Amino acid sequence: MRGARLGLGRESCPLEPRVARSPLGSDAGEHLPNASRRAGFVKAIGTHIIPLLQQDPRLRQSRPAGSSSRRKELLIEPHLMALTDTSPSCYWLDRPERPTPQPALEGLEETDLVVVGGGFTGLWAALQAVEIDPTRDVVLLEAKSVAEGASGRNGGFADTSITHGLHNGLSHFPKEIETLVQLGLDNYRELLASLKRHEIEADVEENGTLWVATAPYQIEDLREQVADLQRFGIAVERLDRDAIRAQVDSPTYLAAAWLRRAAIVDPARLCWGLRDVILRLGVRIYEGCPVERIAPAGAGIELRCASGRVHARKAVLATNAFRSPLPRMRRASIPVWDYALMTEPLSEAQLGSVGWRDRQSITDGANQFHYYRLTRDNRILWGGYDAIYHYGSRTDDRLQQRPESFAGLSRRFFDTFPQLEGLRFSHQWGGPISTTTRFCMEVGTAHERRVSWAIGYTGQGVVAARFGARLALDLLDRPKAPHLALDFVRKRAFPWPPEPLRSIGVRLTQRALARADANEGRRGLWLRTLDSLGLGFDS
Ligand SMILES: Cc1cc2nc3c(=O)[nH]c(=O)nc-3n(C[C@H](O)[C@H](O)[C@H](O)COP(=O)(O)OP(=O)(O)OC[C@H]3O[C@@H](n4cnc5c(N)ncnc54)[C@H](O)[C@@H]3O)c2cc1C
Repeated sequence: MRGARLGLGRESCPLEPRVARSPLGSDAGEHLPNASRRAGFVKAIGTHIIPLLQQDPRLRQSRPAGSSSRRKELLIEPHLMALTDTSPSCYWLDRPERPTPQPALEGLEETDLVVVGGGFTGLWAALQAVEIDPTRDVVLLEAKSVAEGASGRNGGFADTSITHGLHNGLSHFPKEIETLVQLGLDNYRELLASLKRHEIEADVEENGTLWVATAPYQIEDLREQVADLQRFGIAVERLDRDAIRAQVDSPTYLAAAWLRRAAIVDPARLCWGLRDVILRLGVRIYEGCPVERIAPAGAGIELRCASGRVHARKAVLATNAFRSPLPRMRRASIPVWDYALMTEPLSEAQLGSVGWRDRQSITDGANQFHYYRLTRDNRILWGGYDAIYHYGSRTDDRLQQRPESFAGLSRRFFDTFPQLEGLRFSHQWGGPISTTTRFCMEVGTAHERRVSWAIGYTGQGVVAARFGARLALDLLDRPKAPHLALDFVRKRAFPWPPEPLRSIGVRLTQRALARADANEGRRGLWLRTLDSLGLGFDS
């Protein structure tokens, strides 16, 4: 059973599917013999097609004879045509309302609390810190700009779980799971209440989430997931094939479960809203300030970036998948890259052909799964499937683009919604997901509790990050708080091994998950071994 997949459970995150494929991936290459049947001619000078051509000789051969100018006429498949005008940028961040960054830090700052990282964890840490104690002076340092990390570039699925799904929580913390479910529900409610209280407009739509079975073996998985959720009093409804297709019409759907308590948000607006609130409450934000060094100084802690330094009594590190200045954080999490597409807004007729009147978020039930949702203006965000790890835990910006992942996403989008053929994608992007070996958050302290940290939400941090931030603050301020005694807080996840074992392990797992998907979900020896060690997705 694959319970951690519940919600946006990305237990498949670290796992790049790699069954033998061309450099372009099967998505662009394997259908070429049929190209003349389905394809049209396009003027392909877009940012997407050129990189694809550079990689796959077979696509180059598909050029009609005699085309020689720089603007070649290309024979190309519809799912690639849909990508020809796509902007290589994140839709959420690529909007005029994006705030002008705050200036970088210059010289020396003194403060009570310094927060490193301007994503959900850092922003919620700063907000909760001043809400708990309005007299506390807080500084936030961000390497790039607020929301530029995973928080501004995700699917915006807002789920109640703090354990990356019920099943993942059950397998790692069976004795504490009831408490953890309740803490998650409380955190979700408090997050929504906080948005209301501070009048943050983040386009919240609370319509639940659908988990759809797209292969027969997934129907049984769904049954088990629903039974587990009901055991914990979580509202969920089963839908048979006709019922799910009456909701959202895809020929790939065989059954579904509709988890009622879940929302979608506009993630960048949520970050920018939090940013405005904390600025109003007196938090000083410095952007363009990568913290390079952190060390004890007197009774406090000193953080250095290129243009200045901060002396603080305490620090919260919220650096997620990016390289932390603290070595122990670097062993706790690896960055796994996830990619997404955004369509143009659907016309009424296009949306009508799909249905989707209840506007739920959706994920499918494979190990390599897709997640998708509507936006306020009726675009479809479509992401997932590939989950790519780069040797050495790289997180550089150029990894945000991966043509072969976009080609695959596009092909499977039109497999899911063939009635939308002709729709085009406006944006394509990727982002790093901080993944621990237990596939849910890890918190900790360093430098005699002057520093705390919270990272590793895997694919489920939009809501859980608020709880991680709260734990990080409590570790500094209230070390005797009862919830800090939970194993969930105290126990470290098994550390990721160093390279090259790290890459080898991830790659083996990726291949094993791809094989399981192709083999009716049956988990082979490698996955079963990981499961038995408590390191397995879906264990
Ligand atoms: C493509 C994608 C889709 C996802 N979809 C979902 C979803 O639908 N639902 C869900 O719940 N979760 C989803 N996630 C996961 C979710 O986005 C993250 O768990 C969450 O945003 C983590 O927030 P964070 O603040 O910890 O990290 P981030 O948002 O990554 O913030 C970390 C910040 O720290 C800064 N930083 C790093 N190092 C330093 C330094 N040395 N000095 C100063 N600043 C530094 C970075 O620049 C960055 O801004 C998705 C993630 C991705 C990438």
